[in-house]
Amino acid sequence: MVHNGILTLFDIDGTLVRGARCHYMAFVHAVSKFYGMEEDISGLNYAGKTDPQILREVLELGQTPEKVIEDNFQDCLDYMVQDYMVNVHRENVMVLAGVNNLLDELKNENVLLGLTTGNLEPIAHAKLGRVGLDDYFAFGGFGSDSPKRPCLVEKALERARNQYGFRGDEIFIIGDTPRDVEAAKPFGLQTIAVATGRYSAESLEETGADFVLDSLENVDRVLEIMGIR
Ligand SMILES: [Mg+2]
Repeated sequence: MVHNGILTLFDIDGTLVRGARCHYMAFVHAVSKFYGMEEDISGLNYAGKTDPQILREVLELGQTPEKVIEDNFQDCLDYMVQDYMVNVHRENVMVLAGVNNLLDELKNENVLLGLTTGNLEPIAHAKLGRVGLDDYFAFGGFGSDSPKRPCLVEKALERARNQYGFRGDEIFIIGDTPRDVEAAKPFGLQTIAVATGRYSAESLEETGADFVLDSLENVDRVLEIMGIR
């Protein structure tokens, strides 16, 4: 693909889509199977965290010994993927306002599109596939690459350069949490924070995001930020 020198990396949950009950349930099933934990973890704030990071935090909260965490960790993540694949046909994700239009416009402008998400890679693709968005994204950085969000951003950048020959320096990250913004900072990327997740525009302003939007509905505004219009 010939791209126009702009790379845009999208978060998934709270940014492109909302709702993901099956993802949550796959997590609960996997934790229950491998660690026997049945606590209600629905009240905790996982926004912007990676799947492996969340798993570790839940297990530490449940006082699971480190050795036990380690011994079952990868199997637990693998099971979570399996469980998700079986149930994804029931996933209740909804595309957020403006997203379809924005992705179409960016594609037409030959902007290189990638993902930066804490979702395990197969879950990310299946979730987006459920609402017809997966074809926009050939690559990304995922929770399966690293529990640390900055490291998966680094992975996405590496793949853009090595697999897609991206050489530009116009790189945008779009996400809905302070963690998305923080993860982009070490790489000097331009950050667009959207208040379509659990954080308000005011609280996203405090993170030092370059741009804060109420949603992605005003597609022209996003294109203007990127210097396309
Ligand atoms: Mg998010």
